[in-house]
Amino acid sequence: MKFLPDEIEHYAAKYSAPEREVLAKLNRETHLKIMLPQMLSGHIQGNFLQMMSYMIRPLHVLEIGTYTGYSAICLAQGLKENGKLFTIDINAELEDMCRAYFKEAQLNDKIDYRIGHALDIIPTIREKFDLVFIDADKINYSKYYDLVFDQVNAGGFIIADNVLWSGKVCQDKKDKDTAALHAYNEKIQADKRVENYLVPIRDGLMVARKL
Ligand code: SAH
Ligand code: CA
Repeated sequence: MKFLPDEIEHYAAKYSAPEREVLAKLNRETHLKIMLPQMLSGHIQGNFLQMMSYMIRPLHVLEIGTYTGYSAICLAQGLKENGKLFTIDINAELEDMCRAYFKEAQLNDKIDYRIGHALDIIPTIREKFDLVFIDADKINYSKYYDLVFDQVNAGGFIIADNVLWSGKVCQDKKDKDTAALHAYNEKIQADKRVENYLVPIRDGLMVARKL
């Protein structure tokens, strides 16, 4: 899931804004209590997402794949005054924890959190987005992209996480998830409607800007 040597990772963390208390607590609790804690964005990627949010100053953000709410809290930081972040997760077991942390981060009135399959929920949200973060089941990344594309404002961003999939996208033999992520990268690269950069932070972020 990460490519940098620990030493470099620690150095980068040391020379970055420290993880805010609420995020550090959420990070710890996720590692203690929840399955697959490596799915949480974490300090470095969280800082990056937060910085993107401050740079974009979005009115509406859509996140697909909330997990324990770490990236949602980061992405909500740069929202405009009356902005909103919509976030979707299929796993209802994480609901109480997410809601508690959104409250603690004083974001419960800015985050619209919905439980269900993203393919069912996305069509029920009619807003236009300045930023979309795709981070749910890898097999459906291309479907999510197609589904949200018309709702993204010109100049808006679609960011997809884990597009390097621990480097497996470069190997010849690809399992289902790897093939789906590789297909996503190919699709974005071929799509003339966006300009894109694959940023090799953590497990790889495909950043696409709608022209
Ligand atoms: N964005 C989070 C991590 C997300 S992990 C962070 O960076 O901290 C991926 C999440 O996608 C899991 O919580 C999983 O429950 C959710 N997920 C998987 N399939 C989904 C689907 N079809 N619809 C919505 N959420 C889904
Ligand atoms: Ca992820």
